[in-house]
Amino acid sequence: MFQDITTLLLDPKAFKDTIDLFVERYKGKNISVVAGVEARGFIFGPPIALAIGAKFVPLRKPRKLPGQVISEEYILEYGRDCLEMHVGAVEPGERALVVDDLIATGGTLCAAMNLLECVGAEVVECACLIELPELKGRGRLKGKPLYVLVEYQ
Ligand code: 5GP
Repeated sequence: MFQDITTLLLDPKAFKDTIDLFVERYKGKNISVVAGVEARGFIFGPPIALAIGAKFVPLRKPRKLPGQVISEEYILEYGRDCLEMHVGAVEPGERALVVDDLIATGGTLCAAMNLLECVGAEVVECACLIELPELKGRGRLKGKPLYVLVEYQ
């Protein structure tokens, strides 16, 4: 069953409250990069980045970014996928937050973290609106913390 976050976006107060919860958690934490995973990480990541004074870095599906990229492949339930990040978008030593709408198996967030760590950034935390805990994705995040607003069993 697909968890559809677009209904949240139709309610400006609920959308703002959602962003504010993340901003409260991450402001003042010296995070300089918010990395958002295509596509729904592009909805929630930028307002968080603006509010905490961080840059926003899109992690995109293959062949979408125009510049030189680094790539990370990952396994899906059926097949493989890949995320890419622009070379030079993140510097070594930067503190990064990874944002997506939902964690299921954790493969997507794991690939996102690998891209950031590959260029020497420190992933401070991953943040999602929704976790599907039965799929145990949290266990694939290499011991890094995951913050979620709702769990669906
Ligand atoms: P994972 O890699 O953790 O198995 O899957 C998470 C990725 O798939 C996220 O990028 C998320 O946007 C997408 N995804 C998988 N299932 C759902 C779902 O039920 N609802 C939404 N909104 N996204 C999903």
